[in-house]
Parts: sequence; structure tokens; C-alpha cells
Amino acid sequence: MGLLITGGEIVTAETRTRGDILIEGETISAIGLGLKAPAGTEVIDVTGKLIFPGFIDPHVHIHLPFMATFAKDTHATASKAALVGGTTTYIEMVCPSRTEDTMEGYQKWKKKAEGNSACDYAFHMAVTRWDAQTEAQLREIVADGTASFKIFLSYKNFFGVTDEEMFHTLKLAAELGVITTAHCENPELVGQLQQLLLSEGKTGAEWHEPSRPESVEAEGTGRFATFLEQTGAAGYVVHLSCEPALRAAVEAKLRGVKIYVESVLPHFLLNKIYAERAGVEGMKYIMSPPLRHERNLQVLWRALGAGLIDTVGTDHCPFDTEQKLLGTKAFTQIPNGIPGIEDRVNLMYTYGVKRGGLDIHRFVDALSTKPAKIFGLFPRKGTIAVDSDADLVIYDTAYRGKISVKTQHTNNDYNGFEGVEIDGRPAVVTVRGKVQVRDGVFVGEPGRGRMLKRVPQYGHKHEEVREVVHAD
Ligand SMILES: [Zn+2]
Repeated sequence: MGLLITGGEIVTAETRTRGDILIEGETISAIGLGLKAPAGTEVIDVTGKLIFPGFIDPHVHIHLPFMATFAKDTHATASKAALVGGTTTYIEMVCPSRTEDTMEGYQKWKKKAEGNSACDYAFHMAVTRWDAQTEAQLREIVADGTASFKIFLSYKNFFGVTDEEMFHTLKLAAELGVITTAHCENPELVGQLQQLLLSEGKTGAEWHEPSRPESVEAEGTGRFATFLEQTGAAGYVVHLSCEPALRAAVEAKLRGVKIYVESVLPHFLLNKIYAERAGVEGMKYIMSPPLRHERNLQVLWRALGAGLIDTVGTDHCPFDTEQKLLGTKAFTQIPNGIPGIEDRVNLMYTYGVKRGGLDIHRFVDALSTKPAKIFGLFPRKGTIAVDSDADLVIYDTAYRGKISVKTQHTNNDYNGFEGVEIDGRPAVVTVRGKVQVRDGVFVGEPGRGRMLKRVPQYGHKHEEVREVVHAD
């Protein structure tokens, strides 16, 4: 049975037009005014609402062993949370630790997701060690459709890679045309500063930020960019949090380094005061890079508007109160992370587009189109066009509500944005033509999601060729 969506206003990264959308099977078959519904087609009238392409969260953690515990969500809970919030595709970080085999880790993560996600998904493969098998295994993983890597410059001895390992990874990535995403902080400085603070009796959550200051992130960002420059690889800075790191990335862009920048939801709306709250209230806001001084927030919003920040993800990573309390004696033991997959679209719409002057097309671009383009999902995902997957978010801009742990779908006992107002939410969300959400309620097929296979797109053969035109 097909679906005809009538009366809405279609908003993509480029255009805003009135039009009906006809879906036959899993893809869009026609867009236009006054489309006729073939027999047996369900018609949904969405007059007065906006229609966005399904949003893509390019950075989430669902299965994640971290600091002797596991993040709380399963693919079943996280995907429902994603869909209710308007996200129809997420890219999960496959993060085996340094002691785990790369291929075994990849297979484990794939199995956890298979058949359990209600929305589509893809993976970034974290390279957390470099041994005799790694290169061959990574080639196999890329051939399997996972065409992006992840490296951690921090988390020494757990996820973190050395500079030498980063070099090997980027050289292979350049050869294969794969993009590498990176967590950029100087691991040595973080480790030394943590020890120094703890030795001075500074053990509370409020010391987390001083242990990973802005300059430490800027150094990591600059170093990653230099390695990209010397290997010719394409790179993507994840969860950039502050002005000095942004400057390092922009500096690299100006030198012609192929580097993209992602910031994540918490860094646009929260500052370090949240992590300075007493007891577990502060611990709930511990993530890395940490929440920053307030002055950075405006810089990030402006950079997003100007396109210097390419994408907005979440780094969704829920740990509950009990898990956060593992860090009672030392801030270094607090599991890092905060949920966000359910709230990214509504909060960025409310505080960006509605109340902050962010251009609506840039909003769609940063939360859907650009992630699709950077990670090889476009035009299947990330836009509304004939033959694209029918992943649509019909958005009710008249809705008014507040974020609360009581109504969330994420499996966690707190929400870092508790009580925050939202001016809008998805009314209907479809995944490949099937209605999965209506008015904040998951009504769909739990195991509908499929793994999206991607092909490398940063190879030399794809590089644009500039022809020199002589004026005479
Ligand atoms: Zn992450």
C-alpha cells in the first residue's frame, strides 16, 4: 500500500515549496501539486505542517562498554527514541577496546543491531589498535559497507591510538578513500592533569573540565589536521566543543585539508556550570570534551550558521544515576556521556531556527543533508526527492511542550535537558514509507531498521579535476 502526503510545505537544505509527496514501496515516486492517490493508497493530510527529510544522527553510542560498565540503551530503545524525536538514521560507533580483536568487535556490534532497530543505521569502525591483522581486517570491514573509521586521540590505553597508529590508520584510509572521524584531545596532557588534580584532593565532577581544558582539545584538533594533511586522508572532527578547537579546524580548512567539523547537542545549550553542581547532579553532565565556559556557546551557534561547523550530532551515550555514582571518589571514574538522540531535532529547531535565527535550510543541512553527503548516504538519505528513501519528518511547529524523563523513550533515569521548553515536534515520522511515529508515540514496526551499506567516496579518482581555462 502506498502513501500520499498532501498539503504540507517541503523544506530541504535548499528549497521550501508546497507540494504533495507520493510514496510507493519504500521510496518517493512523485512530488508535485495535486497528485492523485492510486487505488489503495493511504492519504495523510498535513496542512499547516513542515515536511523535513528524515534526520540523521552521525554520532551515537548504543552498545558501549566504558569504564567497567555499559551504556543503558539497546537498539530497540535507542531507535524508538530516535524516531520519536525525528531521527530516522543513526551512525553508531563500533568501539572495541584495545584488548579486543577488531573483526570480532565489528561482528559483535553488527549482531547487536541486526533485527533490533526500528530505524536505519550504519557504523563507524573504531580503530583502537594496530597489529599484524588490523589492516586486512579493516579492508574487509570497508568492503562490508562500513566506509568510515573512528579514532580516539584520548582515552590512552583503552580506546586511544598513538600517533604512530593514527598515521597507519590515516594512510590506509587515504588509500581506500574512507573518511576518518576523530575524538581530538591530547591524551598525555589529560592524563597528567588528572593525576595532578587528584593529588591535590580535587576529586569532584567540577574538576573534569579543568583536566581537559580548551587548549588540550585545540592541540588534538590541530594534530589530527596535520596528520590528515601529511597522509592526504579525509577527516571529521567529532563533538568539537570550543572556540580554540574550532580555530584549529578552520585553520586547517583554509590550508585545504579535507576536514569536516561536527559539534554535538549538549555543547550548544549547556555550559560547565551544569557539571559544577554538587554530587551526582554534576556527574550527570560529565562528557568529553567537557561542557565549556558559556562564551563558547555563541561562537558555536555562529559557526553553525556560517557552515564552519558542518554537522550537529549528539554523541548520545546514556549512563544512569547509579553508574554516574561510580565516580563518587574521583571524577576520573565517572562514565562519560549524556543522552540526546531523542531531543536533538526539537532542541536545535527551537533554540536555533525558532528562537535563535538559524536559517531553516542550514538546520536541515547540518542535521540531515550534510551527514548524508559526508558519510556516503546521499541522495538515498538526507533529502526529499524522487527515488530517495521515503524517510520523512512531518513537523508540527504549533506543538508546545517540555522535555522530561517521564515521557522520554531513551532508557535512562534522567534527561540532561529536563524541563527545557520545545516549540515543535514530529507529528508523523516514516521510515522507507512506513509510518513509525504519530504524535510522540511509536506506532511502527520495531525491527524495521536495516544496516546501510556505504562505499568509500574520498578516493583520488573521485577528486574534482580543475581545468585551467585560458582567457585568450
Ligand atoms: Zn562519541
